[in-house]
Amino acid sequence: MHRAYVGLGANLGDAVATLSQAIQDLQAHPKVLSLRASSFYASTPVEADGPDFVNAVVELDTTLPPYELLATLQQLEHSAGRQRPYPNAPRTLDLDVLLYDDLHMADAKLTIPHPRMWQRAFVLWPLQELAPDRVSTDHFAAVASQRVDKMRC
Ligand code: AMP
Repeated sequence: MHRAYVGLGANLGDAVATLSQAIQDLQAHPKVLSLRASSFYASTPVEADGPDFVNAVVELDTTLPPYELLATLQQLEHSAGRQRPYPNAPRTLDLDVLLYDDLHMADAKLTIPHPRMWQRAFVLWPLQELAPDRVSTDHFAAVASQRVDKMRC
């Protein structure tokens, strides 16, 4: 069994509904034994275009190995109608592997921990809800200028 953290984000269409559906789909995956979801957060785009994002993080207990987890996430992005017209374009659904046990790896397809997660307040706040020991005050200090609002849904 492995413990993974996945970041979710959307800023096109009904972002709350898209994230909720992705969480349900992950929960229903036969190799996901349990799932905990953070609150949803609204954030101003960082290195991306378009309206505010809705973000969340989920914790998975899973038997999916890292590449199968990535493939599962990419399939969910695809079914949400994600297109990549240009880098950092607005997206109906973006799913990232943030952490996978204490694994450190980097190759052409997959880097874990996610290389930009520590620079993103919209990752650190929801991650802290689920795994406070994985986020330090130094991490938060580095993203103090980024606006992130916890949503009431
Ligand atoms: P994006 O367009 O931001 O969704 O980036 C997707 C690309 O990033 C894919 O080609 C993945 O192979 C690659 N990638 C590398 N590391 C990760 C990660 N930890 N989680 C998700 N995608 C990753």
